[in-house]
Amino acid sequence: MSQVIGSPQQVSVLGATGSIGSSTLDVIRQHPERYQVFALTAHSRIQALKDLCLEHRPRFAVVADAAQAQRLQADFRTADVPTVVLSGAQGLCEVAAHPDVDAVMAAIVGAAGLESAMAAVTAGKKILLANKEALVMSGALFMRAVHEHGAQLLPIDSEHNAIFQCLPCNYAQGLAPIGVRRILLTASGGPFRNSTYQELERVTPAQACAHPNWSMGQKISVDSATMMNKGLELIEACWLFAARPEQVEVVIHPQSVIHSLVDYVDGSVLAQLGNPDMRTPIAHAMAWPERIASGVAPLDLCALARMDFIAPDLQRFACLRLAIEAAQAGGSAPIVLNAANEIAVAAFLQERIAFTQIPQLIEEVLSAHQANSVQSLGEVMAVDEQARSAANQWLSRQSKHIGLNQ
Ligand code: NAD
Ligand code: MG
Repeated sequence: MSQVIGSPQQVSVLGATGSIGSSTLDVIRQHPERYQVFALTAHSRIQALKDLCLEHRPRFAVVADAAQAQRLQADFRTADVPTVVLSGAQGLCEVAAHPDVDAVMAAIVGAAGLESAMAAVTAGKKILLANKEALVMSGALFMRAVHEHGAQLLPIDSEHNAIFQCLPCNYAQGLAPIGVRRILLTASGGPFRNSTYQELERVTPAQACAHPNWSMGQKISVDSATMMNKGLELIEACWLFAARPEQVEVVIHPQSVIHSLVDYVDGSVLAQLGNPDMRTPIAHAMAWPERIASGVAPLDLCALARMDFIAPDLQRFACLRLAIEAAQAGGSAPIVLNAANEIAVAAFLQERIAFTQIPQLIEEVLSAHQANSVQSLGEVMAVDEQARSAANQWLSRQSKHIGLNQ
């Protein structure tokens, strides 16, 4: 056991009220001598954020807008809580880059998390990256900024954290690891692994959000059900481990116990195993290169008894095919893929489109887009906006079409 010397690390938890945010706070609670909460942020669940601030008494809290910030600040004054409440994208960037912050958990969902994750990187922080969309949208710029600013990037996504653990300990971020033949990215296959296309057409948001192995936010749960999540993760792996898309192979492993594998040229295949609980990769990344307890139960191999592996079906799960194609096209294509997916998932959750229309919308927006290279965050955001507007146009054409048929 290692001794903790000096004062606790100051941690900003971006997306504190979400699934990853609450697992992170659970790990922090177990190690008060190592970690202290510096800032907590939330978008809509203000009461949940308030309760967390009463417990952790962070220096800063960040909410969506100035009016919410004023109300929360008044509540804190009454309750004698020392937290200063900030708001908006500027507030998020401020607590990500603050000179007194040691580590930033980037756990905001979707493109909304990009700017603050980048702010942590350019401030040279230790960044615990859960927000995969940031790498999908701006992988080249993100990895370049990590190197230029001496940031330390640690993957939280369980598969990427597993791959990181299976690579040599002197492995340098974003450089191709020596001797690696393939990365094997495992996927649970989601709740509809065995469903027919006709069954997929009738899937409801509640069914799509009920993941068999993991408890997660709504957007990533739908992404897991369409297998877009694995597609986004393939792109994420390419940036983190300097791999080409064809070096990353997706394998369905329904038990979600092997979190991913690395296949070396000498025939060795290394895997990382564990119960499906995000506190393991979170604790690993927070303490790296040391190890700390996470609260996760030990793996019981005899109770597990068997592990299965199946190749994915790219026809039924067209989102995975689209993501592989976007990874191969490169440049702006993954930005369009991600933006169209965010619009499609939100429309599905609002019951505006069927589950099987998610890949249809994405494919149409992608095929109308000419992939080109992007040189700045401004260009990334411009492509993202154009793709969202194309996706929204598709949605309004669709509802007019339904209207005509009624
Ligand atoms: P979630 O929906 O449970 O939580 C999202 C958090 O982001 C909330 O705190 C919310 O307040 C905040 N947020 C949402 N929209 C925002 C906006 N516009 N501006 C500022 N904050 C906003 O999501 P989650 O499941 O915790 O996932 C978070 C990220 O981590 C995602 O990118 C996801 O892909 C990734 N991830 C999650 C898991 C998991 O097990 N949940 C695993 C791997 C990766
Ligand atoms: Mg994952």
